[in-house]
Amino acid sequence: MSRTTNFYAGPSVLPIEVLGKIQEEILDYRGTGLSLMETSHRSQAYDEVHNEAVALLKDLLSIPDNFRVLFLGGGATLQFSMIPLNFLHGERVCDFTLSGTWSKKAYVDADKIGTAKIVFDGAHNGYSSLMDSTLLKVNPDAAYLHMTSNETIQGIQWKNWPETNRVPIVCDMSSDILSRPIPVEKFGMIYAGAQKNLGPSGVTIVIIREDMAASCPNSLPAYINYRTHIEKNSLYNTPPVFPIYAMKLVLERMKENGGLAAIVKHNQKKANLLYTTIEKSAGFYFCPVDPKYRSEMNVVFRLSDAALEKSFLEAATAHRMVGLKGHSSVGGCRASIYNSMTYDGVKRLADFMIDFPKKHKEFRK
Ligand code: PMP
Repeated sequence: MSRTTNFYAGPSVLPIEVLGKIQEEILDYRGTGLSLMETSHRSQAYDEVHNEAVALLKDLLSIPDNFRVLFLGGGATLQFSMIPLNFLHGERVCDFTLSGTWSKKAYVDADKIGTAKIVFDGAHNGYSSLMDSTLLKVNPDAAYLHMTSNETIQGIQWKNWPETNRVPIVCDMSSDILSRPIPVEKFGMIYAGAQKNLGPSGVTIVIIREDMAASCPNSLPAYINYRTHIEKNSLYNTPPVFPIYAMKLVLERMKENGGLAAIVKHNQKKANLLYTTIEKSAGFYFCPVDPKYRSEMNVVFRLSDAALEKSFLEAATAHRMVGLKGHSSVGGCRASIYNSMTYDGVKRLADFMIDFPKKHKEFRK
């Protein structure tokens, strides 16, 4: 079977071995005679999957013992309102860094619920650069500082973390979780939709420091309160059983293949190959992002002759490479090269990019 090379920004590429394992277990999950999809979330079979997924995340990300790992629904988008509802009670204020589309969305929701102050805004250069985050001036009374570690649409990524003097950092890591080491102890909460680096869509991971959760107000509806999910080990209501199972398989495979240390090297090698291909193209392609903050996950690029972008994308599709069109709000091209993207997949794209300037007239015929 020949497969298409998948550069979608999410849902995105999954390891072929994981898809194979799902196929193998889909009709009869480990001798139960049932698919896990039709199995109760209160069953022993599911319980094991659930707890193993938590344990694997703790292990791979070196999550300290005073943090809890939750599996929620509603996407990372639900967190945009859950976070302020839980932490901005009593007229509290939070700080925000605006690095691109997703942090702006999170900011708009937080500012509807409480007061959100902007401590960095990349709008002046079209979100093509960031700043040294250790120089951020955080309001000492802020309930938290919100950051988006990687902006999926702009292809820009924070490379270090601020000193916040006890103000907890709350970070959306949807598009780069588990792609690089993270000092989890520096954060109050980390959240991420699974559908980029961890598995299929449908589950959101929340990693929350226990003392942060202790202050969540009783007045909140049950689902919205983080304490509900901590007390019930994310089984207050029916969790997204199947995405959690698939994520567990992805995490198992990551661990078998050398864990985070191996992933870091793999990701750097892939991103280097693409950025170098862009730099060496004599201006045929260019990357609008400041080299200091280029994302290792979403490589955003444009063709200097914008009129050629359409044929570039069509030719890529004809070569069975999909998902390279930039987000409609910014245009251009974007290659999402998450953890599960192979080096060979990126090499195919790089070779195609080198070939295209020579051959695009033929492609257009
Ligand atoms: N944050 C980031 C950084 C994202 O890339 C996305 C989705 N692309 C979201 C939040 C929203 O996630 P969801 O669709 O899971 O709600």
